[in-house]
Amino acid sequence: MKNTYDVIVIGAGHAGCEAALAASRLGAETLLFTINLDHIGQMSCNPCIGGIAKGQVAREIDALGGAMGMVADAACIQFRMLNRSKGQAVWSPRSQCDKTCYRTAMKLTLEMAKNLDVIQSEAVDFIVENNVLCGVVNQFGEEFRCKSVVITTGTFLNGLLHFGMRSFSGGRAGDPAATELSNALSGRLGLRLGRLKTGTPPRVLAKTIDFSAMEEQASEHEKEMFSHWQIPDAMPSTIRRRLPCYGVYSTAETAKLVRDNLMEAPLYQGKIKGIGTRYCPSFEDKVVRFPHHERHLLYLEPEGEYTGEYYLNGISTSLPPRIQHMMLKTVRGLENAVISRYAYAIEYDFVFPDQMRRTCQNKRYPNLFTAGQINGTSGYEEAAGQGLVAGFNAARFAAGQPPEELPRSTSYIGVMLDDLVTKEITEPYRLFTSRAEYRLHIRQDNADLRLCEWAHDRGLLPDEKYRLFVAYRDGLERITQMVKTEKYQGRTLWDHLKQTGGDFAPEKLDCPRELLHLPDGATGERIYRELVIAAHYDGYLDREAEGIRKLSDLEMWTIPHDFDYDAVTGLGSEALMKLKKIAPVSLAQASRIDGVTPAELALLQIHLSRQLREKEAGPRQ
Ligand SMILES: Cc1cc2nc3c(=O)[nH]c(=O)nc-3n(C[C@H](O)[C@H](O)[C@H](O)COP(=O)(O)OP(=O)(O)OC[C@H]3O[C@@H](n4cnc5c(N)ncnc54)[C@H](O)[C@@H]3O)c2cc1C
Repeated sequence: MKNTYDVIVIGAGHAGCEAALAASRLGAETLLFTINLDHIGQMSCNPCIGGIAKGQVAREIDALGGAMGMVADAACIQFRMLNRSKGQAVWSPRSQCDKTCYRTAMKLTLEMAKNLDVIQSEAVDFIVENNVLCGVVNQFGEEFRCKSVVITTGTFLNGLLHFGMRSFSGGRAGDPAATELSNALSGRLGLRLGRLKTGTPPRVLAKTIDFSAMEEQASEHEKEMFSHWQIPDAMPSTIRRRLPCYGVYSTAETAKLVRDNLMEAPLYQGKIKGIGTRYCPSFEDKVVRFPHHERHLLYLEPEGEYTGEYYLNGISTSLPPRIQHMMLKTVRGLENAVISRYAYAIEYDFVFPDQMRRTCQNKRYPNLFTAGQINGTSGYEEAAGQGLVAGFNAARFAAGQPPEELPRSTSYIGVMLDDLVTKEITEPYRLFTSRAEYRLHIRQDNADLRLCEWAHDRGLLPDEKYRLFVAYRDGLERITQMVKTEKYQGRTLWDHLKQTGGDFAPEKLDCPRELLHLPDGATGERIYRELVIAAHYDGYLDREAEGIRKLSDLEMWTIPHDFDYDAVTGLGSEALMKLKKIAPVSLAQASRIDGVTPAELALLQIHLSRQLREKEAGPRQ
């Protein structure tokens, strides 16, 4: 067995898998450590990929050559495009996955990747020589040396599981916590760690559920889901059919039961210290925060095609098992439900992300990269997106190349990384479409148009995928030109598309189909859809493009690492403290720091331009 690599990735969750694959695609000799090989790509909570903003991220990962989209498609048991009643800019694909199929397909993807070794082993310490990070030590005392390290340990660092007032050490139910590595991060590497919390609902057995008391939600049958590419033959998919989900409401008795038993909720007894996400509250949080709501919507979602377990979306709780049984008895259709896995909350350590750059690169150790839940985020897609960037930059570092970042204006991944290093993390970070200022430009349908060229230029997107992309992009460009000039009923076809909104099929255009020169098959459909969206948002897209141009002007104002903020007179104490701590790389990033006012930004700009003039004038005599 080799013990020297270019890149070592710790953890094969959603971040670690994409990190290892990205590094190996760039040609870096990569080693992936993980505690349990059978839990690669495990969906710790809901077996679902996508949703609002997360669907956009999954499509971006796919356009960047990542695996998540293909694996999710191979494992799909139910698909829906969310937000169809709203503008196409916020449509988001969401797919319920067969949990086991997802894991198997991801594991095989890793095993087949060139330049990548995967081993079952726990990382417990780091090799640091003269303040330089040189490698990783596993629980057997074996030393592995490398040029860069990516850490993606999820909820495992000092993980503590809460079931009512009882708590157990663990990375998630069924997995051990990573305690030694947490100590090494704060001790050996001297990183600043914090504590966060998340939770999961119970799983129940299908044969004990009365589905007839619930509302069925069938799957859509879209041909195109997450991946822009065909699933390779080697990707194992055991899925034969789509399965429905079911909706049902909790009742006033459920809420009363929870209120009456809050003394057994660790969150309300001060036992849980970590902060949870406001946007994904536990059931007890909902009951306390919204006392006027008598009922809450729950979804029963299948965990797979070959399992009888259902995930009870909407009833995440840390109340003890005894109360969980009683809660289900108050919900129609669940009166006799048998719980197969209890709900619980988990507290874990994370590394404050202001210690890294937008490239996932640590500020103190330039060859250390962190990605996923360890950076204070929550969600599989958020983790995978960061993992891809971290693995990419770890490989670049190993090859002696400078790291690169994705801008906010071209991806949700860029928005997330910029937010993570700029904003203070006080709760687990999740993506929303509202976090992106240019969301008309960064849609789920155009992830490939935004990112494939960039990814291919940098070795992330293989040639065979790139060729498919180029055929599609060139077809779209040709047809867009034609539609803009071709006359139809006295106006251009483009104007016709704009005025009719886009809520129709190509045949309904009431013009010769040859005009569109639609090639057969999916590419033609996609080209048509893209035309309709572009026509629909025509003026708005131009306005957004103007905003992007202004932002890139501010991005050009780079701030050196050693910039002396104390020398800028007039900065308020809050701005001064945050600017020093975050050390923004540009005026654009400084403008997004809470507490830095436009007037303070102008002061920075004046100071930077003075420095620039002095530099151009040369040293004073
Ligand atoms: C109980 C629970 C509830 C959750 N609820 C939600 C939710 O409601 N919504 C949501 O969006 N997300 C939720 N999540 C979070 C979601 O699971 C994560 O955001 C996502 O899995 C993070 O991906 P990751 O790659 O960062 O880490 P993980 O998927 O946790 O993977 C970490 C990997 O690192 C490995 N590892 C850890 N330590 C070591 C070590 N020392 N050496 C080697 N390998 C190591 C582990 O074995 C694992 O493979 C929940 C997670 C849990 C556990």
